[in-house]
Formats: sequence, C-alpha cells, structure tokens
Amino acid sequence: MPHDQFRNVHTWVFDLDNTLYPASARLFDQIEVKMTSYVMSELGVEQDEADTLRSQYWRDYGTTLNGLMQVHNIDPAPYLDAVHDIDLSGLALAHDLADAITALPGRKIVYTNGSRGHADNVMAARGLTDVFDARYGIEDAQYQPKPNQAAFEAIFAQDGLTATGAAMVEDDLRNLAAPRAMGMRTLWVTDAAHDPAADATTDDLTEFLRMVKM
Ligand SMILES: [Mg+2]
Repeated sequence: MPHDQFRNVHTWVFDLDNTLYPASARLFDQIEVKMTSYVMSELGVEQDEADTLRSQYWRDYGTTLNGLMQVHNIDPAPYLDAVHDIDLSGLALAHDLADAITALPGRKIVYTNGSRGHADNVMAARGLTDVFDARYGIEDAQYQPKPNQAAFEAIFAQDGLTATGAAMVEDDLRNLAAPRAMGMRTLWVTDAAHDPAADATTDDLTEFLRMVKM
C-alpha cells in the first residue's frame, strides 16, 4: 500500500497553498491578480507584459517574487503584504484534516513559498493553527523559493530537521524533487494520475493520512 511508506515518519512537512486547503477554493486566483497588479505598478508595464514576465519568472526563478528580486531588485516585504491581502472567506474549517494530522506520530510543520503572515491567516481560517509545531514562510529561507534545494536546507536547518525519514506533502510536483533527493518520502496532493516522481499520490489528504495511521 502507498501509505506503508509513510509509517515511522519522524517529521511531516506540509506545503500550505492547495495542500492544506482544496485547490477548488481558488485562493490562488486572487493571489495571481494581486501579483500581476504588483508587477504592473512596480515595473510600469501593461497586464499582458506582466503576465508574460510572471510566467517567465515562475519557470526560470521558481516564483514571481524570486524573478522580481533577481532581475529587478525589488523589496520582498511590501510585495508579500500586497499579494497575500486576499479574502479567505471561501475557506472552511477543516476539522477532519486537523484530527488526521494531530493523530499522526511525529513532528508536523508547515513550509510555504508564501509569507509567514499568509500561513497564519490560512491556518486560522482552516482551524489548523494548533495542529502544527512550527511554520515557515519564504522569509525564513532568505526569500529563496522551493523548488531550490538550498531553500529546503535553510528551513530544515532552522527547524533542526533531518531530511532522511521525514515526509514532504505538496501539490506542486516540482517541489518534491529536492526533498526526495534529500531522503524524504514524498506525497503529491493532486487530482492528477500518479507520477513516479512522487512516492505516493492522493486526491484526499485527510483519508490518506488516516490510512497511514492504521
Ligand atoms: Mg502549494
């Protein structure tokens, strides 16, 4: 069973966006609009150009923010405040997910390419605040994003986490490559078919975590 690989995991690392809430909440649609407006106003470009730059930066630098920092030397803090100023009323409390995570043995942390403030807001909206031992945002990796291995290493060093025998739970398959190379077990949260780049795939994180416990 795919769940068996996740027995005896000593630390669970959860991505936030589209992992701890369903992609159907479409929070990223709101964030995307804010990112595009920020690029437009910061660089003085029209929307089409901003969208083109954003997809280039996402491809070449991992995130829009990293591209803006590398290419345009922009200040990350006001950018993060602006793009995460979104309406979270579409998020429901996730009692079942909270119970499933709480029941897992081991340490549990959140690590997001978003800001710490965004993580706090989302975790509160989902009723997940008390479920995790720690949470890390992009600020904690000196704004280097997943999928860069150096970003994972920076976070894990701060947490005192040993990658071997830990697990990474993510909706973005790119962000599982470095953790896997570092010795983590990898769980891809998606509606897509299983991809061998991940150890296991689920479209129902709560149910998957319940099965691990059994
Ligand atoms: Mg995500």
